[in-house]
Amino acid sequence: MKRSKTDTPSLYKKKRNRLCLFLMLATGLSACGGETETEAVSDEPAAVEADAGSAKTIEWDYENTNWEQISGTECRASVQSPVNINTQEVIEAELADIRYEYEPFPMKIVDNGHTVQVYGTERSFITVEGKRYQFKQFHFHYPSEHTINGERHPLEMHLVHQEEGTSNLAVLAVFIEEANTANPFLEKVFTQIPVQKEEEVQTEVQLTLSDYIPPSQMHYTYIGSLTTPPCTVGVDWIVFREPIQASEEQIAKFSALYANNARPVQPLNNRRVLKTEE
Ligand SMILES: [Zn+2]
Repeated sequence: MKRSKTDTPSLYKKKRNRLCLFLMLATGLSACGGETETEAVSDEPAAVEADAGSAKTIEWDYENTNWEQISGTECRASVQSPVNINTQEVIEAELADIRYEYEPFPMKIVDNGHTVQVYGTERSFITVEGKRYQFKQFHFHYPSEHTINGERHPLEMHLVHQEEGTSNLAVLAVFIEEANTANPFLEKVFTQIPVQKEEEVQTEVQLTLSDYIPPSQMHYTYIGSLTTPPCTVGVDWIVFREPIQASEEQIAKFSALYANNARPVQPLNNRRVLKTEE
C-alpha cells in the first residue's frame, strides 16, 4: 500500500478497522489492507477498460455469458458481480460518508459495442473509507445488473474509480427508474451517443458528475468483481439504495441500442453485503 496510513484521519481509521472486522467475519478474509487487495487485482488498465467492455484481446458477448470458460479471466472466481441483494440479510454497519470531489468536465463518449461509455477526468475523485479513488469512466447496463430482492430496475449506471497509486477499483452503482419527466443529465449523454460504434467523440458538453448521484448517501457495499471479462476480483462495490429517474423515452433510447447488456447475478457464496445505518 503506497498511501501513508498517517494521513488517514483517525475517525476513518476507526471505521475502517470496524469495517475490516465486519469483512473478516463476513467473508472469512484473514486480513484487511492494501496489499491483499492489490494482489487481487492483477491487470489494472485492462480491467478498467474492460468494465466498459473495450478490452480488445478478449472476445465476449451477452449471448453466451459462460465467461468462466474464457481463459485469462477471473470470471470463474467465487466472488463475482453482480449479485442479488436480499434486504433481509444485509448487515447494518457504521460506514463513513462517501466524499466527492467532482469537477465539471467536457464529455468524451463512445459506443464501444458493449455499452455507452463516457470517459473520466483526472481531476475528479471520491474518498471511500479513507481511500481516495480517481474517476475513470461511467457506462450503462440495461436492465440493471444488481437486483434487490430479485427485482430489477430498468437501467443501472456504473461509475468506475481507481485508487491512486494502486490497481484497486471502486464502482458506484446507481439504479435508474422510469418517471414522467426526462432526466436532464442523462439527456446530455444520450443525445451525444455517436452513430458509429467504437468511434470516440470529444464533445463540448460539460458534465458534472454530482448531478448523477442520488442525494441520499444510503447504500449497500460488498466486495465483488468487474461484471464484464476479465471479471477482475477485489472491486469495492457501492450500490446506492435510492434510484435516479429517467423518462420512458430515455430508457427506450438506450434499450434500442442494447436490449440486454446485463450479466446474470452471481452467487454470493460466503460474502455478506453491508448497508449504511438508517
Ligand atoms: Zn458496468
